[in-house]
Formats: sequence, structure tokens, C-alpha cells
Amino acid sequence: MMECPMCNGTLKKGRTEYSYHDIHFGEYDADICDTCGEAFFTEEASDAIDEKAKELGLWGLEARSKVSYSGNSLMVRIPREIAEFLDLEKGDDIRIHPEGKKRLVVELVDQ
Ligand SMILES: [Zn+2]
Repeated sequence: MMECPMCNGTLKKGRTEYSYHDIHFGEYDADICDTCGEAFFTEEASDAIDEKAKELGLWGLEARSKVSYSGNSLMVRIPREIAEFLDLEKGDDIRIHPEGKKRLVVELVDQ
């Protein structure tokens, strides 16, 4: 019997959904705590998740960008690979909001 490192509950084998932000990868084998519900993916499942992420083109998408001026506003350039991954085009509506002092979230608005 394995113990949950978060709450000392009991871990049971099962399958659970993995998602990265709002992208659903599917279900994978995991040890799931029967008390707090925390899921720990098995090594094989972690490898499969990495593979899937590569397939989906999610790795290596992080990029640095600089803030510049545009009239009275500040402008952040979005690298082409990220724009392509998001199907983001000039003129698309987005919503931006800060998440704390160090993170800016850019959300695409459904047309
Ligand atoms: Zn737990």
C-alpha cells in the first residue's frame, strides 16, 4: 500500500484525465489518493504524456519577447510559432488580464 505524500491517505491504482491548461490529453494510469484526490502519474504515463505534448507541438513554445511602445500603449510581440499554435491572426479579439504582479494572461475571445 502506498501513502499519499500530500495527506498520508492511501493511493489506489486508477486512471485519470491529464490536461495542460485547457488542452485535454486523455486518460492515463495514475496512483490516486482516496482522501485528497491527488493523482500521481506512473512513469510510463508520464512518458506517454511527454510524447503526446510533443505530438501536439506544445513543447518549446515558450519564448522571450520585449515590450515596446505603440502610441499611448505598450505593445508585446507574440512570436510567430505561438501565434500559429493559437491560430491567432491580426485583428483577432483578445482579452488580457494580470494574474498577480508578474504574469499577464492573454485569452482568445471566441468569435
Ligand atoms: Zn492525499
